[in-house]
Amino acid sequence: MSDECLFCRIVAGEIPAKLAGENDAAIAFHDISPQAPVHLLIVPRAHVSGLRAIGSMSDQNVHKMLSLAADLAQKLGLEESGYRLVTNDGPDSGQTVFHLHWHLLGGRPMTAEFA
Ligand code: 5GP
Ligand code: ZN
Repeated sequence: MSDECLFCRIVAGEIPAKLAGENDAAIAFHDISPQAPVHLLIVPRAHVSGLRAIGSMSDQNVHKMLSLAADLAQKLGLEESGYRLVTNDGPDSGQTVFHLHWHLLGGRPMTAEFA
């Protein structure tokens, strides 16, 4: 855990967040500034700075993290309508929190453009 990292502090329960689901590798909570009717953040429990550092996670924990996203999409009834799972890495992406997280977006049609 990094004391400087917002998402580490959320994982540790030091900063409140609206929890949507969890397993032993990752937690999911609602984004504070939702961009869609459903906007969750799926975050590994251990600090990982971004996708570029995913090599520090075990294969099993990567699987558990992504399975949490898929399981929540199913639980929230998004499978039929569809959803988007996206991560930002580095300056051009607009990444603002440097702890790996997946945005799970759904509940409305996504735009065709990614940018
Ligand atoms: P990024 O831009 O790094 O891909 O995404 C960071 C996300 O974290 C943004 O969508 C932003 O709204 C969200 N966020 C920032 N601070 C907080 C917070 O304190 N709580 C929650 N739940 N989300 C946050
Ligand atoms: Zn962190």
